[in-house]
Amino acid sequence: MKSETKTCQNCKSQFTIEPDDFDFYNKIKVPPPTFCPECRLRRRFMFRNERILYKRKCDLCKKEVISIYSQDKDYKVYCPPCWWSDKWDAQEYGREYDFSLSFFEQFDELMHKVPHVALIGIHKTLVNSEYTNQVGSLKNCYLITNSDYDERCYYASGLEHSFDCFDMYNSTHNELCYDSLYLAKCNRVFFSQNSEACVDSLFLKDCIGCVNCFGCINLRNQQYHIFNKKFSPEGYKEELRRLGFDSGSYISSEAFHSRAKEFWSRFPNKFIHARRNKNISGDYIYNSKNTHDSFDVNGAEDSRYCTLLMAPGTKAAYDYTEYGDSAELIYETQLAGLQIYNIKFSHLVWSGSRNVEYSYLTPQNCSNIFGCVSLRNQNYCILNKKYKEGEYFDLRDKIIQHMQDHSYKNKIGHTYTYGEFFPPDISPFCYNETTAQEFFTLNEKESMSQGYQWKGPETRNYQISLQSEDLPDHIRSVSDAISKEIISCAHQGTCNENCTTAFQIISAELQFYKKMNLPLPRLCPNCRHSQRLKQRNPLKLWTRKCQCAGEHSDNKVYKNTAEHFHSTNHCSNEFKTSYSPEREEIVYCEKCYQSEVV
Ligand SMILES: [Zn+2]
Ligand SMILES: [Zn+2]
Ligand SMILES: [Zn+2]
Ligand SMILES: [Zn+2]
Repeated sequence: MKSETKTCQNCKSQFTIEPDDFDFYNKIKVPPPTFCPECRLRRRFMFRNERILYKRKCDLCKKEVISIYSQDKDYKVYCPPCWWSDKWDAQEYGREYDFSLSFFEQFDELMHKVPHVALIGIHKTLVNSEYTNQVGSLKNCYLITNSDYDERCYYASGLEHSFDCFDMYNSTHNELCYDSLYLAKCNRVFFSQNSEACVDSLFLKDCIGCVNCFGCINLRNQQYHIFNKKFSPEGYKEELRRLGFDSGSYISSEAFHSRAKEFWSRFPNKFIHARRNKNISGDYIYNSKNTHDSFDVNGAEDSRYCTLLMAPGTKAAYDYTEYGDSAELIYETQLAGLQIYNIKFSHLVWSGSRNVEYSYLTPQNCSNIFGCVSLRNQNYCILNKKYKEGEYFDLRDKIIQHMQDHSYKNKIGHTYTYGEFFPPDISPFCYNETTAQEFFTLNEKESMSQGYQWKGPETRNYQISLQSEDLPDHIRSVSDAISKEIISCAHQGTCNENCTTAFQIISAELQFYKKMNLPLPRLCPNCRHSQRLKQRNPLKLWTRKCQCAGEHSDNKVYKNTAEHFHSTNHCSNEFKTSYSPEREEIVYCEKCYQSEVV
């Protein structure tokens, strides 16, 4: 089959479907997509509220709970203990398929009847970790999302197998780390990014195996380096004193973070953040093979257009967002994983489920279900109603035909037939409550004009007792009484980052800052999360040329230290990179980068 160029229903840009893509679509028996890969990703993200939490009442036990659904949402919401209990039965909401209505209208109706779970998590594995979402196996954690196997971790997203870490993003196997992103196997590393197996270090970028390093970039297995310069153990301490660095001071930490960023900008970056892969494209990819146009993926094979699959073990997946952990034949699905097989057009499918289509919140052992909501341990169900095996397959085929013949037109005129993910109109969340806002940021006006719902600011019923600019500069001047204060966020809600306008310092957090000699933050947790997000590259690729001009970088800022394969000529290598062409960083191809960084 030849490749085919199509126009995206949403953004009207052209996208290409390659022969390999057609093979995949044929294998799983779906028509080719009508939205471009980016619009497909954004559409899935619009159903994913990872971190905007509210207080509301459980509609069963009536207790106040933390929930991803605000109280004004027209859905039935149960707290996790009620939702996971046997006190109710999702099959009682089962209904006949109505051939006079579109599938998506009927599904939306069912979504409004069947109870949703207030917070997403593998409930029975969470110990003293109530303020968490999209999580499993946590102990004593607070305000962490999209994370598993952590203990005493706070304010993190995408944190796996870690202990005593605060303010982290997409990191794994760390201990006592702070305000960093993409760290692996690090210990006492602060204000750093894209580094592995480092200890007792600050302000690192792209370092591996470094101990007692400060402000460094592209180092491998080094000790006592400051801004990439080597010192003796005593000289290292002496130099930090001479520079006037004091990690406990907010002013000092901020100043040296800026200084480190300026220093890093003089060095080449590899065109991709990736380690231990074979035949891949995208960014932030680890231990994967034959995987393309994917981001934040670990241990994936034969996949394309995947995002946030940090738990290894994905095979043959397209348009799959979040999780992994033994998942095969997955298409246009999100928040799914843990021994699942053949899952299409669904949101949240876990634990041994197979042959699931168009379903929402089916976290346990479902097989052969279509259009179901909040179902567990069931098979042969359509719209939550159970059928005999043969009847199920007959009706499923008829519904697919009906979806093709009687497509659903959403309010902005997009056509939805079998083969599309759920239209954003039926998402329980407003655009700015979801991950779509984190990666494809809109303001209220833009969001409304694209037909998406928008959530206005919440009325806050607290009084700010301390302005963030009045916080002591040094942690040593902070007393335990600080945990009683309601501190204003320095952004004061003006940033479009879901600023909560105020925050508190909880006592475990204060102990951590004191023990590690770190200053108090000045921003609310959401704004802090956004500052880390800004330090990662976007979910987008551009084709670019290597910026190695032979003896130095194109902009002459970096002078090469070794001879390259292309000698003094300009490197002719091209690559797909998430560094957009207008960015200032120096971007090298794999070969040129490896010549410089040994
Ligand atoms: Zn598009
Ligand atoms: Zn804020
Ligand atoms: Zn090159
Ligand atoms: Zn070169």
